[in-house]
Amino acid sequence: MDYDYVLVGQGIAGTTLAWHLHRSGRKVLIVNDSSRPSASMVAAGIFNPLTGRKLVKTWMADELFPYAMHFYGGLEEELQARFLYLRNIYRPYRSIEEQNNYLAQTAEPGIARYVLDRPAELSYNDFLNAQHGGLEVTGAGWVDLPVFLHKSREYFIRHELYLEAVFDPNEMVMRDDWVEWRDLRIGKVIFCQGVDARDNALFSWLPFAPVKGQLLEVSIDDFPAEKIVNQGIFILPDESGIHKVGATYSWHDLDWETTDEGRLYLEEKLKGLLKVPYQVLNQRAGIRPSSKDRRPMIGFHPQFQQIGVFNGLGTKGVTLAPYFANNFVEYMEKGKDLNSLVNIGRYFSLYYQ
Ligand SMILES: Cc1cc2nc3c(=O)[nH]c(=O)nc-3n(C[C@H](O)[C@H](O)[C@H](O)COP(=O)(O)OP(=O)(O)OC[C@H]3O[C@@H](n4cnc5c(N)ncnc54)[C@H](O)[C@@H]3O)c2cc1C
Repeated sequence: MDYDYVLVGQGIAGTTLAWHLHRSGRKVLIVNDSSRPSASMVAAGIFNPLTGRKLVKTWMADELFPYAMHFYGGLEEELQARFLYLRNIYRPYRSIEEQNNYLAQTAEPGIARYVLDRPAELSYNDFLNAQHGGLEVTGAGWVDLPVFLHKSREYFIRHELYLEAVFDPNEMVMRDDWVEWRDLRIGKVIFCQGVDARDNALFSWLPFAPVKGQLLEVSIDDFPAEKIVNQGIFILPDESGIHKVGATYSWHDLDWETTDEGRLYLEEKLKGLLKVPYQVLNQRAGIRPSSKDRRPMIGFHPQFQQIGVFNGLGTKGVTLAPYFANNFVEYMEKGKDLNSLVNIGRYFSLYYQ
């Protein structure tokens, strides 16, 4: 074989999978078309163990989060770069009632481990409408995905693991248990295409439920950078002074264009949260590759065992990708089980319909 694996796409999915395969000693080539839009280049990169208005614990948080920290932290050292930021999330209470509800909820041990038992500091009081105080979620933070992806790409290029090209699935010739593509002999091709997988006949039968998202980049004079703020929307402060505000969720108009509707929604929420003026510098849009049951979609094609997929990372690519890249590689290389909740085997009936 010229390559054990060809991975199509270098978003978070392709990048985390490439690292795991490369580290297991496999010969990998990433084929990526960087001129296309990528959700990973738009995402805020936040990881948050307790989400939503009801403080719901993220699925598999106790397993996903430690693995993600270990993965990104280790790569920071190897790549001599900084992209992992551990930051508490400050959630100002909307009302006394919400404060009481949250305090009751945080008594549960599964939740308590992610909540600071001291009240939030007051350093944000000059900036936020937070007259009832707030709680702080720990074990959270963000990954600067453009830095992570660019630094990874530089490494992949240096080690001849990267090809800038469009991969057309129609150019593949299926052999018994390998694939021929542009005169190369390849053991397995794994598609990590994000929402573009909907146009790939090999996997377009999977139940994608894409969600468009938009965010703003704003400046707020002297806004403290030590915590992420979350109340319906998030403010992700950056030391550069360009802070991200997001995000919207929309299941229609699935394109990569920003809209006035998205900006107005975010600005309305931001005005309710902030006591101080802000300035909108930029607006961005992307499409999250979510699945119908909101779980990743990973595994091999029902007919072609040499063709795989790593997708469906939805709204939580930062925490799902490292753990399930490892699970997928251990499945392929060591014969371990692939978590049945992410295995595309759960959808094979759709393929045979
Ligand atoms: C506004 C917004 C905010 C978000 N915030 C967060 C957040 O705070 N935290 C979080 O965890 N997640 C967040 N997400 C979700 C996150 O972006 C996704 O889970 C993740 O980026 C999906 O990564 P991916 O690699 O599957 O897809 P992508 O990043 O879209 O990558 C797919 C890649 O495949 C390439 N490609 C496709 N087809 C081909 C082909 N035929 N040939 C060559 N290359 C090809 C594309 O060029 C692209 O680079 C957010 C998303 C949006 C839109």
